[in-house]
Amino acid sequence: MDYFSWHKDYMVECDEIEPQLFLGNLEAAENEETLKCYGITHVLTVYKVPITTPKTIQIETLFIELEDSPDCDILSSFERSNAFIKEAQEKGAVLVHCYGGVSRSATLVAAYLMKKYSIGVDEALQRVKDNRNCACPNAGFLSQLRLYETMKYSLDEDNIDYKIFSLYHLGRQVSPGNDFNAIQTYLTRFKENVCDSRKFKCRQCRKCLFTQSNVIPHLKGQDLYWNNFAQLAVSEPPPIVCENSLFIEFLPWMMEAHQSLSGKIYCPECKSKIGSFCWKGQLCQCGATISPSFQVIDSKLDKDFQSSPPSGNECLLHHVT
Ligand SMILES: [Zn+2]
Ligand SMILES: [Zn+2]
Repeated sequence: MDYFSWHKDYMVECDEIEPQLFLGNLEAAENEETLKCYGITHVLTVYKVPITTPKTIQIETLFIELEDSPDCDILSSFERSNAFIKEAQEKGAVLVHCYGGVSRSATLVAAYLMKKYSIGVDEALQRVKDNRNCACPNAGFLSQLRLYETMKYSLDEDNIDYKIFSLYHLGRQVSPGNDFNAIQTYLTRFKENVCDSRKFKCRQCRKCLFTQSNVIPHLKGQDLYWNNFAQLAVSEPPPIVCENSLFIEFLPWMMEAHQSLSGKIYCPECKSKIGSFCWKGQLCQCGATISPSFQVIDSKLDKDFQSSPPSGNECLLHHVT
């Protein structure tokens, strides 16, 4: 063995987390001997760029593009990666890897174990660490795993933290990313929102514009961040929810926001101005930055909080244009 191949083999890290499930580094996924040795049939790559697995063996692959940054959205990939790992474990054996096999890939393996065994983050991570001691999701990924646990291992669109999380990441794509196409993907995911009976109507024309479940609350003086509300339950004394301004989530009928970085929000029926938006974010009077922000003006709205059952078509939320 020459120095180069010795050196390459030396770098290979591939640890068995449970039967047919391996967690390793980039070198493992590119190393023919390793893949053959462990009977790997599937490779899940979570990395900046796709990799090339050895041509000599038949490997099914899934590539998830992601940087190892706490600010990146790994949560949205859990459903895809879980399905791939499950199928791979049934058909053969799977190697999940990123660059070092420490943060990104360990996060995906932990999410998979959580869902498979209905266990919490701490137990799942312990199972990973028992077999790969260096496994350590970055702080942002760890928070996303915790949110995943709170949502009982699925993406719950009604969960307020998940809503804020998704809005935040949409905001980052739209501004400064200038990717307005991301809006369509977002709306496909969130179109099933159920209207509750606490309606907000246009004062001018009485059209129902949104409901209480679309309101995005924030803590007084604190920038909007998606895990504030999970913290609410544990902090002592409990923080105060700001009542200075009314911010809501992005809704399909906010037509200006489909193509501009900032502007006014108009009632889609009578076109009267009811608020303003800014994908980059706006300051609340309390000093908190809400990003992205969709702020509506109280005096332009009528609250209708009667306990009548929600009537499907009346509410605009169902109309994705
Ligand atoms: Zn109106
Ligand atoms: Zn505020």
